[in-house]
Amino acid sequence: MRYIKRLPEPDILVQKRDEWQKKFEEKKAKNATARPDSSKYGNPSIRERLEMCSHRKCFYCESLLKGEPKEIDHFIEVAIAPELAYTWTNLYLSCSNCNDKVSHDVIPVDEVLDPCKSSDEEIRANITFEDECICSQPGSEKGLKTIQKFHLNTDLLDLKRGKWLRKIMETAIEIQRCMIADKREKPTQEEKHKLLRYMQPDQPYSMMAEIFLRKKFQRFFT
Ligand SMILES: [Zn+2]
Repeated sequence: MRYIKRLPEPDILVQKRDEWQKKFEEKKAKNATARPDSSKYGNPSIRERLEMCSHRKCFYCESLLKGEPKEIDHFIEVAIAPELAYTWTNLYLSCSNCNDKVSHDVIPVDEVLDPCKSSDEEIRANITFEDECICSQPGSEKGLKTIQKFHLNTDLLDLKRGKWLRKIMETAIEIQRCMIADKREKPTQEEKHKLLRYMQPDQPYSMMAEIFLRKKFQRFFT
């Protein structure tokens, strides 16, 4: 997870939100378990804008969603806040792993990190990585609950992050090999940029990459 700057509300929501919300509330008055229409909040232009916000990654786990199922998630669940069913700031993009989140009754949404509100500093203060394994910072209930709520520690995610980490490691080791061959103490600017690239928000698992590289290869960046 890392901070996501939300882009402006898509036009279709500005124009249709109130109408869609009214219809949903009428449906709900007849049937308490009625759900908002996913073909409306999942409209292609809303989906596209969400993908642009996160560089086509899951808002929670930073998995690249290219070719993967993408789900529109209500950050505050519809059961808790039906009035936010079509509200732009409550719509998040999620992979199927993270969308299957623990319900608000068990882990309330206000007790976890919010990628659209929590800064990278706050995220790092609550969550860290041991190689590809995510863990909460010592004593951080918020970190622990965030990991639990969005299942950020599944085997599948460890596998995907592990694969990406090996790629990062290979780049770093190759740079180190060149430095030894050239009898250099420091990487060239170009080599440094290759590593810094992995930490950019458009890259998958960029928070993990940053924590890993700063921990193991800090000397390259000073
Ligand atoms: Zn995810």
